[in-house]
Amino acid sequence: MNLHEYQAKTLLIENGVNAPSGEACQSVDAVRDVATRLFGEGHSKLVIKSQIHAGGRGKGTFVDGFKGGVHLCSDVEDTVEKAQAMLGNTLVTIQTGPDGREVKTLLVAAAEEIVEEYYLAVLLDRATSQPVVMVSPDGGVDIEEVAAKTPERIFKEWVNPALGLQPYQARRLAKALGLSGKMILRASQLIVAVYDSWLRCDAAMVEINPLCKVRQVDGTEGIAAVDAKISIEDNALFRQSKIAEMRDLAEESPLEVEAAKYDLNYIKLDGNIACLVNGAGLAMATMDIIQFHGGSPANFLDVGGGANKDQVAAAFKIILSDPSVEAILINIFGGIMDCDVIASGVVAAVKETGLDLPLVVRLEGNNVAAGRQTLAASGIAVESAESMTDAAIKVVQAVSA
Ligand code: ADP
Ligand code: MG
Repeated sequence: MNLHEYQAKTLLIENGVNAPSGEACQSVDAVRDVATRLFGEGHSKLVIKSQIHAGGRGKGTFVDGFKGGVHLCSDVEDTVEKAQAMLGNTLVTIQTGPDGREVKTLLVAAAEEIVEEYYLAVLLDRATSQPVVMVSPDGGVDIEEVAAKTPERIFKEWVNPALGLQPYQARRLAKALGLSGKMILRASQLIVAVYDSWLRCDAAMVEINPLCKVRQVDGTEGIAAVDAKISIEDNALFRQSKIAEMRDLAEESPLEVEAAKYDLNYIKLDGNIACLVNGAGLAMATMDIIQFHGGSPANFLDVGGGANKDQVAAAFKIILSDPSVEAILINIFGGIMDCDVIASGVVAAVKETGLDLPLVVRLEGNNVAAGRQTLAASGIAVESAESMTDAAIKVVQAVSA
């Protein structure tokens, strides 16, 4: 589950990170109030930032041509004008895809006086089964590009999970950023606090890009998390109820949200052959075999090992609400699952939705004879397949016909 920048900063602040956050506003009036207050407090520049679950906002462009999802503003009217241009508008960035995301919330904050921009992230390194803390002196830019072109500019410290990030490791990272003197202490304290946030929030990843050396009001240098992205490990949400409430369903694919209600694992893809499969491994194999025979899957859908009739019906409706679907392949291996339950679910769903797309079904395993009988006796137009290969060939033929 992903969080908005303003939510991520709230969590970071709670864990002792200097992450100047500002205020989240949902209307132009709210922006005007916050801007009036902040300029009144003597700030000379504000920053106004689109809150969407995607990076690259600064360099993004709105669908109506308005440039930039992050703006510096010099007075109240300027801030209000930018808010009017951004709120309700759709922002396209390198991470949103061509459709972009509607901006419903703006973060308004006093602008930082940035001296330098760095990169900091904490995530799990699956290769070593350890948390890894990564920094780069080249921040504020696309880190994938740094990794590809100048990998020597990325520095990593692996963390023994039982010991946590050690102060000497944090200092080593701070030095890798090119910091010296008191700034090493400030940066290493912040890095430890970001690591602690990652751990306490059950985060999959915390990314601060840019982490900044800033000029503070008293003229001294400080270190601040100017942007923040946190994604939470879904399997830990049961023990992170406060964070779970921060979920913004409007940022998630509507079909995936609907699927989650029925405990279905659904991921929309770009092809035109919908698949309904039980078991994640079989679902992956089904997508592979469709592709192998020249087709292209429209989705990944695992109805689980013990799906019931209602789940099958719900799954069916979800795959059908994708307008790119031109044919359906149902591939079920009845282990725990009874093939006849699936067959009845399919028949009910086909009748209810008035399906008029080619449907290929491959059933195997527990109570398969009864399942095939149910399909054959139902009167619905279904093509039975003998094997996975047979099923894939038939469904690919159906879409190319
Ligand atoms: P994104 O990564 O989505 O483009 P960022 O929050 O990183 O969004 O903002 C893009 C750039 O805008 C930053 O690299 C920084 O230069 C500037 N910026 C962002 N927040 C602030 C701020 N609070 N004060 C001053 N400049 C900022
Ligand atoms: Mg950023």
